[in-house]
Amino acid sequence: MSKILKGIGASDGIAISKAYSLVEPDLNFTETSIDGSASADEVQKFKNGLHETKVEVTKIRNHAEETVGPEHAAIFEAHLMVLDDPEFIGPIEGKITGGLSAPQALVEVRDQYLKTFEEMDNEYMKERAADIKDVSKRLLAHLLGRALPDPASIDEEVIIIADDLTPSDTAQLDKRFVKGFVTNAGGRTSHSAIMARSLEIPAVVGTKEVTASVNDGDIVIVDGTAGDVIAGADEKEIKAYELKTDELKRERETLLELKDDDTKTQDGITVELGANIGTPDDVEGVLDNGAEGIGLFRTEFLYMGRDKLPTEDEQYEAYKTVLEKMDDKPVIVRTIDIGGDKEVPALDMPKELNPFLGYRAIRMALGNKELFRTQLRALLRASVHGNLKIMFPMIATIQEFEEAKALLIECRDELKADKVDVRDDIETGIMVEIPSAAILADEFAKVVDFFSIGTNDLIQYTFAADRMNENVSYLYQPYHPALLRLIDNVVKAAHREDKWVGMCGEMAGDPTAMPLLIGLGIDELSMSAGSVLKARSQIKNLKKTDMEHLVEAALRSPDSDTVTALVKEYTERL
Ligand code: PEP
Ligand code: MG
Repeated sequence: MSKILKGIGASDGIAISKAYSLVEPDLNFTETSIDGSASADEVQKFKNGLHETKVEVTKIRNHAEETVGPEHAAIFEAHLMVLDDPEFIGPIEGKITGGLSAPQALVEVRDQYLKTFEEMDNEYMKERAADIKDVSKRLLAHLLGRALPDPASIDEEVIIIADDLTPSDTAQLDKRFVKGFVTNAGGRTSHSAIMARSLEIPAVVGTKEVTASVNDGDIVIVDGTAGDVIAGADEKEIKAYELKTDELKRERETLLELKDDDTKTQDGITVELGANIGTPDDVEGVLDNGAEGIGLFRTEFLYMGRDKLPTEDEQYEAYKTVLEKMDDKPVIVRTIDIGGDKEVPALDMPKELNPFLGYRAIRMALGNKELFRTQLRALLRASVHGNLKIMFPMIATIQEFEEAKALLIECRDELKADKVDVRDDIETGIMVEIPSAAILADEFAKVVDFFSIGTNDLIQYTFAADRMNENVSYLYQPYHPALLRLIDNVVKAAHREDKWVGMCGEMAGDPTAMPLLIGLGIDELSMSAGSVLKARSQIKNLKKTDMEHLVEAALRSPDSDTVTALVKEYTERL
């Protein structure tokens, strides 16, 4: 009997494959002492576990080197060094000979090291503590015979099942083998969902119970459009979904005919369609889907899933690659937006009680000027290779924008003094993600070159609903008049000052929101690459003047349901 689980459709498409459970096993154990005669066997057991762990880590390192590059593989190199270090291994074997079991001896030596390292006020030592913790976990799992899941070593087609995936877990998934994923936690705008869309992997999040309902190896169907997961699917269900997959393929072929078209409404109004990316590798998807530019480059992904920060040269190469591949099409790079659900291990940031309201994005960048300058210098140097625009995330006050812009100008003047080529005409804008910026848009419009509305955060802050928490995901209400009024305020304020307004949150690619966005007069929309052609086809069928009437009525509505009913009424008339 199959079972249907309902979740939140996070990335479109259908995947059918067997489940790979990314749930960590319980590594608790009860200590049993070993008497003298058995300790030689226990030492041998430890050596076997150590050997298996080394083989496994070497495999992970080689795989990471091939797929995500040497800088991401370095962390596993450090793990191998710990496993070969006589100062770590010797004391463990000593304790086993003294009568402890292998797992207990490992845990005791690990804890001694962690205590010593964590007491030191030294970044390098803190990193070593993290390595010891990580690799000891893997070794302990081998000693207990309960292997840890390892997404990097997957080498057959699977659907990942997990409680949650961090953005860096998602970044390590290999698209050749990972055909979809399903999680218990998360919402449509959590970053693992966003990554799934840029990788074009079907995904369903927020099911609450997938790890309890699906076992490793079960055949699973993921319908990322409907948000359905079918566990233990039978032949008939598999057949039905295979037919649906064929239908989606045919739809896609028809849409591809629009790849080189402009995006114009029926009454001739042009809307610029961009795509969102996280790494230079995503540019291919942008071009394949006929986007007219990159409306959001989430640069923080360059900093994640590695144990060292990217250097200025490394960042310069990444930005240059993107700009060159995009030819002269606009590329809007957002400066580092760390914090919230995006952790950067190399920065060792303190845990906060309210990370989404805390020290993130521009707040953190302005508080870490050297880190920020490194990025700005890399961007400025890359600016000569294409059509670069820069925007700052999470701006709450004009002072924050002015401080960031002043730092950008300072970096530019420094580079010029050193005779480095830099463009003088780089547009600088802000993301509107905090209600204070939306409300004060008229003042911001006097100082910025453009706005890009980040609805993922703007919705979470307007409705005070954590975007990661599936229990409050009903408050993710992009069609709510409260949000539409904020957007309307931004667009009007910007146009009064002859500035343009884009949108790069997930709402920008939402077909139900599209008639409203056209009526509101947004100039540019940036979305996951896979949504671009559908958006173009939809906009070609809309008339801006009609949508303006729709918006007038929507802004005067009391709630989201009234607005969706209006959208339906207006679009059915087409
Ligand atoms: C947003 O908040 O809408 C946005 C585009 O930024 P991010 O999703 O990366 O927070
Ligand atoms: Mg945001």
